[in-house]
Amino acid sequence: MFGHIRSLFNKIRPANSHKEVFVEQPVPEKHDMIKDFFENSPSAMAVSNKDTTIFTVNKAFCNMFDMNREKAIGESWTNFIPPDQLPFLREKFQLIFKDPANAQTELEYKFKTKAGETKWLLLSVSLIPGIKKLVATFKDISKRKLLEEEKSRQFYITGKSLNEIYIFDAVTLKFEYLNQSALHNLGYTLDELKDETPILIKPEFTEASFRMLIEPLMSGSQEYLVFDTIHRRKDGSDYFVEVHLQLYLQENKKVLFAVVNDMTERRQSDSALKKSHELVETMVNNLRGVVFRCENDDNWTMKYISSGINELSGYTAEEFIENSTRTYSSIIEPADRSMVACEIKKSISRKEPYTVEYRIRTVTGEQKWVWERGRGVFEKDQLIALEGFISDITELKQTEEALIKSKKEFQSYFDYSSAGLTVTAPDSTWIEVNQRLCRMLGYTKEELTGKSWLDFSVQDDIDTNMDLFNQALEGKIDYYELEKRFIRKDGNVIDVSLSTVCQRNDDGTVNHFLTSLNDVTERKKSEKLNRTLGKAIEQSPDSIVITNAEGKIEFVNAQYIAFMQYSLEEVKGEMPHIFQKKNVSAELYDLMWKTLHAGKVFRCENFLNRKKDGTSFFENIIVSPLIDTNGAISNYILTLKDVTEKKRIMDDLIAAKDKAEESDRLKTAFLHNISHEIRTPMNAIVGFSELLDSPDISPERKQFFVETIIQNSHQLLSIINDIVSVATIEAGQIKFNGNQINLNQVLQFLYKQFILQAKEKAIALNYRASLPDTEANVTTDGTKLTEILTNLIGNALKFTKYGSVTYGYNVTNDFLEFYVEDTGIGIPAEMYDEIFKRFRQVETSSTRKFGGSGLGLSISKAYVELLGGKIWLTSRQNKGSTFRFTIPLIKNVY
Ligand code: ADP
Repeated sequence: MFGHIRSLFNKIRPANSHKEVFVEQPVPEKHDMIKDFFENSPSAMAVSNKDTTIFTVNKAFCNMFDMNREKAIGESWTNFIPPDQLPFLREKFQLIFKDPANAQTELEYKFKTKAGETKWLLLSVSLIPGIKKLVATFKDISKRKLLEEEKSRQFYITGKSLNEIYIFDAVTLKFEYLNQSALHNLGYTLDELKDETPILIKPEFTEASFRMLIEPLMSGSQEYLVFDTIHRRKDGSDYFVEVHLQLYLQENKKVLFAVVNDMTERRQSDSALKKSHELVETMVNNLRGVVFRCENDDNWTMKYISSGINELSGYTAEEFIENSTRTYSSIIEPADRSMVACEIKKSISRKEPYTVEYRIRTVTGEQKWVWERGRGVFEKDQLIALEGFISDITELKQTEEALIKSKKEFQSYFDYSSAGLTVTAPDSTWIEVNQRLCRMLGYTKEELTGKSWLDFSVQDDIDTNMDLFNQALEGKIDYYELEKRFIRKDGNVIDVSLSTVCQRNDDGTVNHFLTSLNDVTERKKSEKLNRTLGKAIEQSPDSIVITNAEGKIEFVNAQYIAFMQYSLEEVKGEMPHIFQKKNVSAELYDLMWKTLHAGKVFRCENFLNRKKDGTSFFENIIVSPLIDTNGAISNYILTLKDVTEKKRIMDDLIAAKDKAEESDRLKTAFLHNISHEIRTPMNAIVGFSELLDSPDISPERKQFFVETIIQNSHQLLSIINDIVSVATIEAGQIKFNGNQINLNQVLQFLYKQFILQAKEKAIALNYRASLPDTEANVTTDGTKLTEILTNLIGNALKFTKYGSVTYGYNVTNDFLEFYVEDTGIGIPAEMYDEIFKRFRQVETSSTRKFGGSGLGLSISKAYVELLGGKIWLTSRQNKGSTFRFTIPLIKNVY
């Protein structure tokens, strides 16, 4: 049927062409041919009145719209256009009657067939001028949209002088198909030729010579063959033909495609010519392309060029004829001109058709891509013209470029994707894998392609994966995600997260799977590490607090909750103590934030904190800022260690050390004092004893010496007694020796003992008994009581220069309270407790002034406590001191 179109093209050659002669043929036959063309046209066609009422449609129309001819007739062909397209249609076609040359007469639209298939249709409406009829052509352009069909289709449409089509097996040479025209011309039926080869109808050829002829096509050395020969009809008559032969691959079978031009068909009356000319013009102009015949010169001087040039270039056909306004060459992109000329020259020299793609500039300056196919027209081996067809392939080029680009993009996306990508066949083998997956698994592309994912999966993961894979195969799911493990070439196992989408065939079966895989081994590892760290934090023996960037608590561990007695809910959103300004000194607060904001760890020791119940404790705190990937602080982590016990031990240790040091110092002082206190009386005793030995001393002096010796002996004795007492107390040897005493007698005894000493210092000595003598009998350790009082009165006299010393007792409840009051130098308050400790004296210098070992008060205190009482004092410096002590009042026990 394309052959018919070509034969129509053929007839538009100018009458002066030698090659083109319309020979007489009965007009009805030509009409038949037109009818035949109309009937067999692949495009759906409807011929209608001006108002679009159909009066005939062709077979393709019936097929396309799935209705019979009778039903279509009388309907408007606009009924076969989706209603939403009609406004465009009207707008476009408005001018068709008034100005057919300039009216836009094409409309592309999407159409859904009754079978539910979506097709792209190109509606072209043309006016047949003489009879004022409209021809509406609905061309299925779905395939054009699909690109790959486009080129071969172009070829069919644009070949020239071809009207018979033969298709035969390239190997057996048996006919596969002959079109109506071929059968008609030969006088055979298709059946009769079914098992025949072209040799039958080509008397000039034997099988061998024919095979030799097609050899260049078979070997691929030539794309095309054009040759002249004779065809023999069934009735034995011959006719001259020109054969165009091309090799095609049809469903994996090589077939030869012959388009044959009958060179003897040359009869046509002038009127038939005229009429058919009109139709042909309509048809040719209805084609999206340009038919031309031109000189083989630099300008490509046009002898004929169809009006399609107007749509293509914006210039009219007339402008090009004989270069009247412009040359065709002038609209070819300068850069492409020599290439076009070269291509054409090359083909012509071999007498072969040429195909060339180049760019033109339209009247608006727009660039378009065109595809041109043509050939030289020879007469007696003399090139007389070029004939051909030019088609706009801009859109195609763009699509092609876009396709190549998107293919490239896809390929590079596939290869360089950061995820592993695979294309998997339904039998689980990998059809394609990308570089990333190769790196993930440690294999090369070659090693992985053709293998099944099963070969690389960890056994335990296969079932789950297989289950999903099968569900997809069965059509239950189209997509699945999964985490699984793969085994690398080096034996290591990696964790992978994958998502698979399946691409299905029209019948729903899976064509292939597309899978994207990400290596999550590190993530898994860090998840595990995080879990471990989480556990470590949770179970840490130290309290751990995590805050957000503002320092507000987000998390506390179990130890914190147990120790601080707060629950997480209670402290969440609060600030840890150390972050609160009121709990720390301004310097510490500033230092802390300065350190933390610099991203450094801040340490604070012995921070005083409080539990929920108010118990205070000391803690060591470490605050670490957590820096996120952007370098900003995201959290603070506080580790808190309770150091109360440690601090107590430390404090005790320090105190013990101080004490040890002090007692060491005190002992040194004591030894120093003791040696002094012992040496002084000893020296006196020894010295005066020696003097006593002198023969000539007066009795008075002798008396003085003896008294001095006695006095110093007492002093020595008292010191030794003190030391012995201390040793006894220290050894825990002192005992309570209870006996009955009369308190008033004890006071009197002490008075006698001290009155001389008091008089010597001119100090008044008084005592007061608060009980009558008869009632002053009590039970206690009389010796120790006397010793205590002796010691206190001795001190009072020692540290008093002027005034008086008064002593006595009072009875309070069950206690006797003794007192010794002086008007001496007094004792500073901070020494009140100290002086009761061993060897403690208020002033080292005063010691020397006043003498003494620093033992008296400590012995007194030990004795008071032994007797069941306590001792204390009140004093004012330079005014005097009062020592008081109690003992239980026990009357008449014995
Ligand atoms: P000693 O008197 O042998 O030094 P004590 O233990 O009796 O030792 O007294 C300790 C210290 O207490 C004295 O050295 C003195 O500094 C101070 N002291 C004791 N009694 C008095 C007092 N009545 N007036 C002022 N200081 C006193």
